Amino acid sequence: MKRTGIVLLCLAMLGCRTSQEPESTMDTALNDSFNIYKERFIEELWKMYPTWASSQGYHKYDDQLTVLSEDRLRTEISFSKANLDSLKKYDPDKLIPNNRTDYYLIKNQLEGTIWGIEEYRSYEWNPAQYNVGEAFADIVSGKYAPLEERLHSLNTKMNFVPAFYAAAKKFIKNPTIEHTLLAIEQNKGAVSVFSSMVRDSINRSKLGAHEQQMMLAKVDTCIAAINNYVDFLSNLKNDSPRSFRLGKELYAEKFEYDIQSAYSAEKIYEKAVNRKKELHEEMAKITTQLWSKYFSDQKMPDDKLKAIRMMIDRLSEEHVHRDSFQTAIEQQIPELVEFINKKDLIYLDPNKPLVVRKEPEYMQGVAGASISAPGPYDKNANTYYNVGSLASYSPEDAESYLKEYNKYILQILNIHEAIPGHYTQLIYSNNSPSIIKSILGNGAMVEGWAVYTERMMLEEGYGGNTPEMWLMYYKWHLRVVCNTILDYSVHVKNMTQEEAMDLLVNQAFQQEAEAKGKWRRVTVTSVQLCSYFTGYTEIYDLREDLKKKKGDKFKLKKFHEEFLSYGSAPVKYIRDLLIDKEISQ
Ligand code: ZN
Repeated sequence: MKRTGIVLLCLAMLGCRTSQEPESTMDTALNDSFNIYKERFIEELWKMYPTWASSQGYHKYDDQLTVLSEDRLRTEISFSKANLDSLKKYDPDKLIPNNRTDYYLIKNQLEGTIWGIEEYRSYEWNPAQYNVGEAFADIVSGKYAPLEERLHSLNTKMNFVPAFYAAAKKFIKNPTIEHTLLAIEQNKGAVSVFSSMVRDSINRSKLGAHEQQMMLAKVDTCIAAINNYVDFLSNLKNDSPRSFRLGKELYAEKFEYDIQSAYSAEKIYEKAVNRKKELHEEMAKITTQLWSKYFSDQKMPDDKLKAIRMMIDRLSEEHVHRDSFQTAIEQQIPELVEFINKKDLIYLDPNKPLVVRKEPEYMQGVAGASISAPGPYDKNANTYYNVGSLASYSPEDAESYLKEYNKYILQILNIHEAIPGHYTQLIYSNNSPSIIKSILGNGAMVEGWAVYTERMMLEEGYGGNTPEMWLMYYKWHLRVVCNTILDYSVHVKNMTQEEAMDLLVNQAFQQEAEAKGKWRRVTVTSVQLCSYFTGYTEIYDLREDLKKKKGDKFKLKKFHEEFLSYGSAPVKYIRDLLIDKEISQ
């Protein structure tokens, strides 16, 4: 597979060289210099953001913890400005594709940092931003070094905790109620990281008794500092709390930095509203078509949305038994591979099969399925498809979960998470190696690809092209469409909780519990919920544009492989690279 990756990359470079740019513009010296710059940039980045470094598997600064101060904010801004200056030395058009996309990702990261400090200012209104729990949990549960070595880092890191929370208290003013409550809840979780995880690992370590005592005393100090912060937030007088809604301007700007789309937030919102209308029309058609097959003794309700809901509920009853949930997933993976090979949709490396496993204990609590990929510094580790266990579910909860992931949706979930969704994209991105893309990779491209493959597979006939499969796919797809509508409406258009529940439950056919969870998520996050639909839309539109341009010469397999060969870059830049290539051929 490695070889295929290199071949693809070379083709891409050749394409650019023969494009409107003369060969001499692809400047080797400039690219070499940019490679050196990138290495230095990452080193500096990790020094500046030690917790982020640890989370990415870079452990040199594990013993550090950043304490916020006015000075610190100034340092971050000058770091960003200095690097933006350095970037000016490079003309992106003269960089090879992999470097060009890295260039844009770095630039966006730096500009976003300055904007975050000067405009967004969440360090003033989001108390949940201050939490040391995860940083300490990661080090304690890490496997990268012997426990005693990790505890030594942790010992120094603990020194910063009281100052960390003192700074938090100083910076917080006029926080939102939602983020305050979240901060209280999550920092209580951080207390338990220290009182159980950290304490336990000190006790079972081979450190001397004296050293252990010293560290345990520090653990107590950390717990006291966190509890003090929780008390501070619980008693905070906040008569005119800031709204959790971002408002149009901040939202539009955040969308630019986080999503890096060719579309504006408003445009994507409009596209989502239209898509919802289309989906409702299609779903009503299918429901009418299927009605007598499933409800022969009942008249179809006049209310279209009601009828669709009844049909979805009926089809959701077709699901696997709780004991065979994981086996069902394991069986579907080779079926997906076979289908893709038969239809010639994309090259899948037979040497990199996906390992399906029961979700490990430390991940439990979030049922469902997810991909665990090794970080940029741990390339050779396995990639796993984690499947949540239903063992602890009551019969009612298990039934409700299995209805959600019924026979139809389970197949779409496997396409999304595994093949040819996230897992396949990951293998391709590893073939155009870029640490920049591993750490700054574009979430909308990654999610958009997984969402795109769902539709692509169904269009190619996966699932037998049955009306049932399409109806359930539309229901699933409606979720990402409504994520976008919800996020934009709530943050920009003042949508109320009641209206949000109507959107999710009545118009997107979700369960009450899921809709409530989504409401909570939209009150403490912004923009991220748009990434799925935005990435999907851009990829789908790009494909359709290329199809129009190339006519009979368009090959789906080639499009997929070329698209993925650029790694996790924003779709708009991949679009430029692919369209450039078309002009040159
Ligand atoms: Zn996903």
